[in-house]
Amino acid sequence: MVTETDGVILRQTKTVNDRIILVLLTRKLGKISAGTGTRTFGKRKSSLPLRAFTHGRYQLYSGRQIYNVDSADVIESFYGIGENPDSFFCASYVLEFTDRVLPEGMPAEHVLDTLTGMLRILSRRKTRLKSLLLMYQWKVLQILGYMPGLDACVRCGSTEEPAGLSVVDGGIICGHCRDSGTVNMRLLYELNFDIIQILKFIQKNEIEAFSKLTFRDDTAEHLGRILESYLSYHLDVRDLRSASYINFD
Ligand SMILES: [Zn+2]
Repeated sequence: MVTETDGVILRQTKTVNDRIILVLLTRKLGKISAGTGTRTFGKRKSSLPLRAFTHGRYQLYSGRQIYNVDSADVIESFYGIGENPDSFFCASYVLEFTDRVLPEGMPAEHVLDTLTGMLRILSRRKTRLKSLLLMYQWKVLQILGYMPGLDACVRCGSTEEPAGLSVVDGGIICGHCRDSGTVNMRLLYELNFDIIQILKFIQKNEIEAFSKLTFRDDTAEHLGRILESYLSYHLDVRDLRSASYINFD
């Protein structure tokens, strides 16, 4: 059966006989693995649709075990990413992060649109990439259903001033609940007005609205710590490989 869908390559690995296995985030099938036979791409191994940072259209043939890419065309190439090392490392991290948090086969159209939007911004924006990266990561967590509850205490519903963000409880909690003795204090994070407003902004807007926004360094650092804790506790995601290359601000 042949399926035509657009998508972005998240990862590629080479196997025996120079066969390349792609992990693709597609509109119709979610995240899938697909092989590229030398039969199809023998003469055009370096063809653009199979390069990173490209939004492509793929014809997929479903074989016995995995899909095979029959043909591929470029919809949009984000070649600007390769012109700046920081953009390149940030975009590499974005692809690895997206790959790690998404299970195979889950419908992920909103994630795909957010990813292509992010790559488009990264092909133009060269500075203050940390803020942008954090907004992307929180947006994807929201799409996957992991955005913290921010409107009232997630334990008792109280709308009084929040006393912190509890990763285990999945949102803000009030002073009364914090002092109840049943909260995991190690995974409780202090909050300030900025953090709640930023998370609400991310919640209400799509990636295009993030293109010019930046945070103060201490705010970015705090948001990053909460994010790491969320990823580790709720999704069992830690130690992203490309993180070690990232040292931009
Ligand atoms: Zn409460």
